[in-house]
This record gives sequence, C-alpha cells and structure tokens, in this order.
Amino acid sequence: MQKSKKPMKKGKKIVIKKKSKPSKKPVKKNINKAQKKSKVVVDTKKLLSLEDAVKYISDFVGEKGLEIFEYLVKHGATEENKLASKLGFDRTNNIRKFLYLMYSRALVSYVRSKRGRKAWYTYTWHANPDQLIFLLKQMYQNDIDQIKKSIELDKVEDYYICNYCNRLYDVATALQNDFKCVNCGRVLEHVDTKEVLQSRQQRIDELKKRIAYLDSLIKTRSSAKAK
Ligand SMILES: [Zn+2]
Repeated sequence: MQKSKKPMKKGKKIVIKKKSKPSKKPVKKNINKAQKKSKVVVDTKKLLSLEDAVKYISDFVGEKGLEIFEYLVKHGATEENKLASKLGFDRTNNIRKFLYLMYSRALVSYVRSKRGRKAWYTYTWHANPDQLIFLLKQMYQNDIDQIKKSIELDKVEDYYICNYCNRLYDVATALQNDFKCVNCGRVLEHVDTKEVLQSRQQRIDELKKRIAYLDSLIKTRSSAKAK
C-alpha cells in the first residue's frame, strides 16, 4: 500500500501512519517509480478525451466507476462520504466496491485519517491518472509484442484467404479443407505475405504513435529527478 507523503492540510485531521516509529524527522523512504507520481503533471483533459482511456476504465469498472474516476481527476482528493453523495450513491458502502476495484490497479489511492481519538476513520481518495497512462502503454506494448510474434510466424507461413468472407487460413487448414472456405465453400486464394506483413507493421507503427502521445501527456516537474 502506498502512503501519502504529506499529511492533509485542512482542519485538525490526524493522518494515521501504520506502526510508524516515533521519530522527530520525517522518514525518507526509498521512492520507487510509482511513488514519484506526486512529481508528475498529467494533461488529464487530453488523457480523458482519448477513446481508449475511457474504454479502459469503463471496461474495468463500468460507467459508474468511470464517473468516479473522472470526478476524482477533476476535483482532486475527495472524502469518501462526500464522493458518495456527490455521485448519487445512497450509501458510502456502495461506492467502495468501485473504489477498491480501481485501487487494485492503483488507479486510485486513499489517505486514511481521523479527527479525534475515538472518531471513525475517514478515507480520502484521489485518482492516479499517470497510472492510467502506464496501464494503457502496457496494453499497447502487449499488442505490439503479440504482433511481432505473429510477424515472425508470417515470415515462414503461407496464407490463403476467402475474399468473400475475408477469412484467413494457414496452409495446413487450407489443405485440410481442399483450399475451400469452410464458411461459404468458395475457392481460397493465395495471399501475398508481404501485404500481411505490411499491415501488421502499420499496426505496430500506430500503436507506437499512441504510446508516444501518452508520453507527451506527462510532464515531469523540475523538482523531480530525471531517471
Ligand atoms: Zn468464405
């Protein structure tokens, strides 16, 4: 679990640290890449106008989850109760499953605090748009890796196609079916492998462009040390 580095500013809230040692100076921890996030600025407007970004979140947590994420991006850290009432949840409990799910991929984080010794804990949530960028880039990179693998196969494989159904067959399958389409029975035609390779390469180039665009949405503040 990530811990917030700075305590909350407002009110007399006490930030509860887990088993923190009594120490006068703030403990400096090794800051890993994920924790560096406080030092990066993300162009969230551009990020959330990307179809893939919106799709990623809504596929993962649904429309309601997307609404929560967008609210947190727009309004910054928000107390759980307030978040629930702002977004029309009748009970705070009902919003938690969305938050916890997003938390499982570090798309949101929270700070736990309480006002007095006997008070309940309050959870204040914030969004991590840079994590969304990281996850999207990972998704694109996986696609690229997959395509690269199939390119290696294409170099040795011959393909046949049904021009009617647009269905592609490798040699073994085409042979098995007497070079006829299993769907419509039409005779298959040999495919120019170069064309297949070309279209796969185009797809890779497109994905690389998307990765580069995502990178352009992150600005590292001068205080952050370069890697
Ligand atoms: Zn066919």
